[in-house]
Amino acid sequence: MKKYILDLTNAQFKTAAKSITDQDYRINQIIEWVYVKKASSFADFTNISKELRDTLDKRFLLRTLKIVKKEKSMIDGTVRYAFQTIDKKYFFAVFLPAKGKNSVCISSQIGCPVMCAFCSSGKVKLARNLSRGEILEQILQIENDAKEKVSGVLFMGMGEPTLNFNNITSVLNSLLSSKEFGIGKRHITLSSVGVAPAIKKLADDNFGVRLALSLHAVDEKQRKKLIPNNFGFKIEDILNAGKYYLKKTGSRITIEYILVKGINDVVADAHKLTRLLRHHELLNPDVQVNLIPFNPVADTQFKTPEQGAVQKFKNILKLNGITVNIRQAKGADISAACGQLGY
Ligand code: SF4
Repeated sequence: MKKYILDLTNAQFKTAAKSITDQDYRINQIIEWVYVKKASSFADFTNISKELRDTLDKRFLLRTLKIVKKEKSMIDGTVRYAFQTIDKKYFFAVFLPAKGKNSVCISSQIGCPVMCAFCSSGKVKLARNLSRGEILEQILQIENDAKEKVSGVLFMGMGEPTLNFNNITSVLNSLLSSKEFGIGKRHITLSSVGVAPAIKKLADDNFGVRLALSLHAVDEKQRKKLIPNNFGFKIEDILNAGKYYLKKTGSRITIEYILVKGINDVVADAHKLTRLLRHHELLNPDVQVNLIPFNPVADTQFKTPEQGAVQKFKNILKLNGITVNIRQAKGADISAACGQLGY
């Protein structure tokens, strides 16, 4: 059976490639074609002999994903990609163009076990984790299709990244390596619903990427309505994990807070959020709160909050010295905004 090259770390590929060449510099050239020159076919490896290219083609796979649908937002140019895997499963990724800093929002699982009530990905039953290669290939395919370089990566697509821990950390190593993707740690954001031990482990491994904590609520009752499956982690555990991450890595963290009308958007909630952040030593210039007005998805009873309520919420946080940002929905017309990456 052919090996999927992107599933292998460089060390693993070097071992696997020993059977096709004993020349280290050739192996390094191949790695360069895969990760730096980002060739999508072995035929493009022009400084490698035809014979070796044919052998590579017989033994390895360079791509396994197929773009089966592509929708472009008429509002902001955001592009939503639907990918099909080799075992005929489907998931999504989003290209977010911006002058000088294009980003991608990628998926880590097919479906999501967290089942956030406001998110259409959460309505898709977990099929499986995406492999290391399938996660990296999303970036390569989007760059190739958009003919643009990507310099920012958001792990905010389908799935909870920390539940696919080994593949995600292997991907982070590749993204950060100057011999592979070479993306700066400040340009990578990993979002988590708050799997506290995994967040602590990420802090200890010291990748130093930005962390986005999906808090979304100020008390357990509220949170349960929004995130039915929180794996037993309480708000307290999540904020303590955030505090640990901040202290250990010094990297900026964002507290993600989806505002849903009548659930968590009133003035008292804003004050409670401030108190929670203060209590967990998260009133800090390196902590930012992102307010995300709920983006409508199919089959939900949730409503988008009034603009006035969003502004009021923001002002209270701001008056308490919190850096706060209202996140504008990108690609809302093509269901590519936050929480809309479902089938
Ligand atoms: S918001 Fe994230 S964690 Fe929640 S269901 Fe959607 S993809 Fe899963």
